[in-house]
Amino acid sequence: MNLLDKLFSREIERRTGAHAISIYIEENTIKRKRSHSLGASALKASNTKVTTKKTEGSFFHRLDLRYPWLKLVVVTLIGIISIIDLLNLTISSTGEYGVRARIAPMSKHLKVTERVLAGKKLVALTFDDGPSDATTPRLLDILTEKDVPATFFMLGTKAKAFPKIVKRASKNGHEVASHTMYHQNLVRISADAAKNDINEAKTVIKEIIGRSPRLTRPPYGNINNAVRDNVGTPMILWSVDTEDWRSKNVDSIVSVAMSELHDGAIILMHDIYPTSVDAVSKLIDTIRKEGYEFASISELTKIRGVKLKNGVAYYNFCP
Ligand SMILES: [Zn+2]
Repeated sequence: MNLLDKLFSREIERRTGAHAISIYIEENTIKRKRSHSLGASALKASNTKVTTKKTEGSFFHRLDLRYPWLKLVVVTLIGIISIIDLLNLTISSTGEYGVRARIAPMSKHLKVTERVLAGKKLVALTFDDGPSDATTPRLLDILTEKDVPATFFMLGTKAKAFPKIVKRASKNGHEVASHTMYHQNLVRISADAAKNDINEAKTVIKEIIGRSPRLTRPPYGNINNAVRDNVGTPMILWSVDTEDWRSKNVDSIVSVAMSELHDGAIILMHDIYPTSVDAVSKLIDTIRKEGYEFASISELTKIRGVKLKNGVAYYNFCP
């Protein structure tokens, strides 16, 4: 076993199958326009190969670069991440492209842990008001099959009722976020009541997945100063409203989403309606046909270089 394999094995062991290694080829922000079309050819030119390792049901992908010394640099740095847990590294060989490596919580169910995002238009699928034992498990199956990460804004009451679904969503590599405990209109209740509603949901979710949700979506997107002061996380709203709760119609959901779609969009859906889940497969295929790829909210903010702030509302992550 050489040094590279040792580093990978150690990382894999340490993470006991719950995590995987993601490597993104990221375009240089200054030369964004030019690198757009060049992003794919850079990969080709560097003769990059992706190797898959399977360990205890988990898939790990390794980025193999043509030059052994470059590979050594990349992998050594990935080894270092296992200690510091986070790395934003840019290795520039041409001055135009970099390799950005980071460790991301990924699912053992997701087939692809590496998504090359350079030159891609990106969108985030988000689902509110769940989980529901009638609809969410089927949605999770579809997301796994399509290898799409999503962000779930869960209600504390529903999370409490269906903790196994919350755990599964988290383990599958999706982002579990808060939609408050009781779905109250936070601007119509007292600051204290709003604070309690927000905090109760955090506690419930933390008990289930072992960490407090890092993102909140206030019900109805309603925010006032009391909410800003008390939410304690960034607030994620949306830029594409599928109105799935209103139409309850697959074709309408897909056409509304596609008519409003843009790079950096946050798409709002609800995983409690069977028609919304019915629409997801077609929606994913249609979006991909337009050249988009999917990212969770956290991935999207990282890729777009946005540092989220507590108490601030975000509607999209356009480039
Ligand atoms: Zn809602």
